[in-house]
Amino acid sequence: MRINIITIFPDFFTSPLDVSLVGKARDSGTLDVRLFDLREHGRGVHRQVDDAPFGGGAGMVMMVQPLAEALEPLADTHRVLFTPGGTPLDQETLDRWATLEDLTLVCGRYEGIDERVAEHFIDEEISIGDYVLLGGEVAALVAIEGVTRLLTGVVGNPTSVETESFREGLLEEPHYTRPAEFRGWGVPEVLRSGDHARIEAWREEERLRRTRERRPDLLDE
Ligand code: SAM
Repeated sequence: MRINIITIFPDFFTSPLDVSLVGKARDSGTLDVRLFDLREHGRGVHRQVDDAPFGGGAGMVMMVQPLAEALEPLADTHRVLFTPGGTPLDQETLDRWATLEDLTLVCGRYEGIDERVAEHFIDEEISIGDYVLLGGEVAALVAIEGVTRLLTGVVGNPTSVETESFREGLLEEPHYTRPAEFRGWGVPEVLRSGDHARIEAWREEERLRRTRERRPDLLDE
């Protein structure tokens, strides 16, 4: 899979893309990440990519021309623009993106982006939550991690991807490992019973209990 990133801060991605399973996926050729510096399409000696908003108001707006020039050669890819006003990112969206050959992620900065970019060069506008970040780079990293772990061969044991939170609309059950007792805090007896049917029944019950307590909205869907 190839992921194209359009950003004014390509350096932002250097370390996160080099480490962990994302780094390994890139080394093995499973994932190809290409960084596009938006400033290459900027105006004048300062490679300006923003300008004052029509109608006045706070902040600067990313201009349509540099983004149009960056996005036009990527017209045959699925182009995503990160914005707090987009559709909330969820597991289903990541599952869908993971089946694509070519995904393009556009990172905004400043007050926002000239609306004509979304209207003419973008397939999907996505938010990573009801809060405002400084820019879309962190959102792009969220998407890259979420998609990469779904690519074949990236996570050693595929079952762990299949049984995670948000599969079947539930949160995951709690986990424990050694020691069986720490500072007097034990582990649920059933997990040490060796009785796999009981363990699975306990896990299913915990998934439901946890979802009911923490994310009842998931059960309503
Ligand atoms: N003025 C915008 C608003 O009120 O919706 C916020 C602009 S924000 C400071 C700059 C850029 O960060 C956005 O264009 C977007 O690319 C990115 N961004 C910030 N928060 C985000 C979020 N929750 N989800 C996705 N992208 C976000």
